[in-house]
Amino acid sequence: MMQRFDKAVQLLGISDEMYHILKIPRKQVIVGLPVTMDSGEIRTFEGYRVVHSTILGPSKGGIRFDPGVNLDEVRALAAWMTWKCAVVDIPYGGAKGGVACNPRQMSAGEIERLVRAYTTAMLDVFGPDQDIPAPDMGTGQREMAWLMDEYSKSKGMTVQAVVTGKPIVLGGSLGRTEATGRGVTVSALAAMDKLRLNPYKSTAAVQGFGNVGANAASLLRERGVKIQAISDLSGAYYNEAGIDIEAAMAYRDHNGGQLEGFGGAEPISSEELLSLPVDVLVPAATEDVITMRNAGSIRAKMIVEGANGPTSAMADDIINDKGIMVVPDILANAGGVTVSYFEWVQNRIGYKWTLERINRRSDRIMKDAFNKVYKTSQQYGVSLRIAAYIVAIDKVASTYKFRGGF
Ligand code: GLU
Repeated sequence: MMQRFDKAVQLLGISDEMYHILKIPRKQVIVGLPVTMDSGEIRTFEGYRVVHSTILGPSKGGIRFDPGVNLDEVRALAAWMTWKCAVVDIPYGGAKGGVACNPRQMSAGEIERLVRAYTTAMLDVFGPDQDIPAPDMGTGQREMAWLMDEYSKSKGMTVQAVVTGKPIVLGGSLGRTEATGRGVTVSALAAMDKLRLNPYKSTAAVQGFGNVGANAASLLRERGVKIQAISDLSGAYYNEAGIDIEAAMAYRDHNGGQLEGFGGAEPISSEELLSLPVDVLVPAATEDVITMRNAGSIRAKMIVEGANGPTSAMADDIINDKGIMVVPDILANAGGVTVSYFEWVQNRIGYKWTLERINRRSDRIMKDAFNKVYKTSQQYGVSLRIAAYIVAIDKVASTYKFRGGF
């Protein structure tokens, strides 16, 4: 995050003072969370919330449950949220939270107690005008419902707008679940248009088959793109003629959430998926999967980053030298937080928008953001990634100049 940030700051000619204002997070909270496990044993988890910036508005960002969660990762992810919200021009700062745990090895009851303990520990941090969490890796609607309930109990009233990504019945927004995948699709199509790639004659490989990857694959397919490979933790699956994504999603849902044993494609290795000669590669799993080590073997014409930080900074140069277009994470996956913003707006006005309105408005935001970043990349002669940082940092820095002092 910092390597790209430094490069964009240099190009923008930002002062040293501003550099430090934008670099150092506003708040970093670490908590110990004792949770009673089903066995009766008490286990203590470490939880984090980093508020990177509140210059544009209340901070926004997901909560990650994963064994690898640590303060450094959460800090980078929080800063990415600041730049992401600024790129799509929604009135939020950036934050991120997480707990080092393995939700795959925990019962629903254990996860619920952990979410409630985390929420209680963060009561002073969270708030509909302060800091608004959402799902991220390892969390979803269920966890957001528990979070809203625990927060509401402490306030003595239902506070829907404290968290987004909730189930529809609790004030969740239509379209939120598919929103990130939809935004990935909109930005992929915008980028394909620039490269004069006809979606109906194009192929894609999607790494990761969670909320982002599966929905991106399904929506790209709907727009004509042939999905030749998909993958999850169980491995990668290839079918030259194209994978039936709906069938893969149905298989996953009836197979404990995993693609293991999926018959609609032949198994390949995860590394092979990354180097397939497809038009579009969508890394939608986790950070640092495209690195110096494998960047040289990528044969896709473009990479559209569904995950946060899937490409290491060192791999950027190799990919740029190969002439591969990269639609960066802070632009490509911003559809999720955009519809989170719509959810928060609906909660606050006490009114429900139709799916048609939500999709139309989020598509427009994604297209406008893509065009602005594309124009900036031409103007500065830089990659879309650095251009996205330029757009974002410029927005936050100039808002700060008007506000002063904050
Ligand atoms: N966790 C998602 C992200 O990284 C969504 C954040 C949100 O909706 O606030 O963008």
